[in-house]
Amino acid sequence: MSSEKTPIPAASNFIRAIIEKDLSLNQFATKKWAGSPGDATHHEAGVVDAAKIRTRFPPEPNGYLHIGHAKSIFLNFGLARDFDGVCHLRFDDTNPEKESQEYVDSITDAVQWLGFGWENHGESNLYFASNYFDFMYRAATSLIEHGYAYVDEQSADEMRASRGTLTEAGKESPFRNRSITENLVRFREMRDGKHADGSMVLRAKIDMASPNMNMRDPAIYRVRRAHHHNTGDQWCIYPMYTFAHPIEDALERITHSICTLEFEDQRPFYDWLLECLAEAGLLAHPLPKQYEFARLNLTYVVLSKRKLIQLVEEKHVSGWDDPRLPTLAGARRRGYTASGFKLFTDRIGVSKADSWIEYTILEDCMREVLNIEAQRRIAVLDPIRLVIDNYPEATSEDCFAPNHPLKPELGKRTVQLSRELWIEREDFMEVPSKGFFRLTPGGMVRLRYGYVVKCTGCEKDADGNITVVHCEYLPDTKSGTLGSDSVKVKGNIHWVSVAHAYAAEVRLYDRLFKEAHPGEGRQADGGDHDFLADINPDSVKVITAQLEQSLQNAALEERFQFERHGYFVADKKDSVSGKPVFNRTVTLRDAWQK
Ligand code: ATP
Ligand code: MG
Repeated sequence: MSSEKTPIPAASNFIRAIIEKDLSLNQFATKKWAGSPGDATHHEAGVVDAAKIRTRFPPEPNGYLHIGHAKSIFLNFGLARDFDGVCHLRFDDTNPEKESQEYVDSITDAVQWLGFGWENHGESNLYFASNYFDFMYRAATSLIEHGYAYVDEQSADEMRASRGTLTEAGKESPFRNRSITENLVRFREMRDGKHADGSMVLRAKIDMASPNMNMRDPAIYRVRRAHHHNTGDQWCIYPMYTFAHPIEDALERITHSICTLEFEDQRPFYDWLLECLAEAGLLAHPLPKQYEFARLNLTYVVLSKRKLIQLVEEKHVSGWDDPRLPTLAGARRRGYTASGFKLFTDRIGVSKADSWIEYTILEDCMREVLNIEAQRRIAVLDPIRLVIDNYPEATSEDCFAPNHPLKPELGKRTVQLSRELWIEREDFMEVPSKGFFRLTPGGMVRLRYGYVVKCTGCEKDADGNITVVHCEYLPDTKSGTLGSDSVKVKGNIHWVSVAHAYAAEVRLYDRLFKEAHPGEGRQADGGDHDFLADINPDSVKVITAQLEQSLQNAALEERFQFERHGYFVADKKDSVSGKPVFNRTVTLRDAWQK
């Protein structure tokens, strides 16, 4: 992990203020850390924690990470970096279904791609919550022993019915007051596979009349015969997320447990549980504290794993890394950069108010970083032939194109000019519209980095489609030579030599959804509809473009600005050596602006 400090972003981040205050009050000055996660005894035998704070990024390995996760990654890893702390990468894999190694690998890839790692102070802070199952079982047993949990054998329907409502207290379960011994026996039987899936649950014993529904004896363990990717068939009971997560934080001695707003109502249970376990001597103070921030909502995409899985499984896209998807794997193939995501997350800040961020803000961030990072190249996307009739045949000459207008130190490269060139179809108009300053019969234009040419006419096929444009060049006007300014022209067009061009597959991607809020509203009754109905049918166009020769040697994932067109990246998946395929990352300007 880089030790470079990120500057405090301009947009506000209220969690920074909380951490600054905690540190100024020396909240964690005596907190011990034993070098690995564990209970109170384990950590008390350790040393004072060298990490000033501990945060964690806790994805469930049940899908690929998306742009929303990038916000959480920059927040958690970024805070740790800025405050001399440590951020753990923790796989929250307590739910046996839907989790897989493929997802685990894709997540570690994405975190590293964004520039973060989990090696700190000679330790690897990469953890799997499923390694804490033994402790969780012990913690649940301890709750029972202290009268804080009971096995409930009501049906799911009965439990739901007795939960009460926001205005009405819940009803206590007939099993609520069974003896501690009986509860211990039943819970052990649950673990030993003596009871059917769903036949009973372990519940925390708190308060069925609490105004907070989450405090009305929440379920903390269920019977579920399911194979787990890490623990196999060792367990047939699994902890509920709300029980598991605070324990994971405490075992890892997290100081600031940062999550999205929907968990705000869980905070009282989070604190209740950890206090109970600390009181029983299982966990050490200071206990972790939960803080909530507003999740990222982005227009024109869906950021829900369920919907992303649907898009992939029903083959609306080519896979998890389809460049149109808002997954980090897709964004990467699209040519988005980690630095662009960093700029984006700094710019949108961190707050407690839910809001929608316009997709253009993300695109503008990518344009901004790519404008600085990407070298310029020439590409003709919709080619038509231009013949310079007074230019000698079977010869060519060097022209010099700057690699980066803002970075003269990157020098110039050679592009070949010859008698036949590819130009953009739209750069010629037989009958020019008003304000058209490019090629038109009798008109003059500069071939960028080359000569001024005068258009002499065009050829058409039987259907009247233009097939070839003709021109003559003015020999004294070559860019970079003394006489280049002798003839003034208003237009300037790009081109590549037919004899030297690299004909490449180029994918022009556009937004996957044509509506800002896919699936939301617009029913007669204002209700939601299927988000799939909002898929943009024209989200990708595959073309054969004529590119300048040097692009044939582009490295995988090398990014360029194709002059006048936008930013493009050599696709890391479909390119073969000497035959790169290019994906359009983003156009130079926003075409969606109304
Ligand atoms: P989904 O709801 O799509 O399934 P999730 O929140 O369940 O996503 P997790 O794997 O649990 O996915 O998320 C890991 C972390 O990323 C969590 O701490 C979560 O708060 C955070 N996160 C997920 N989505 C967003 C988002 N849109 N904006 C910010 N943070 C997010
Ligand atoms: Mg989740």
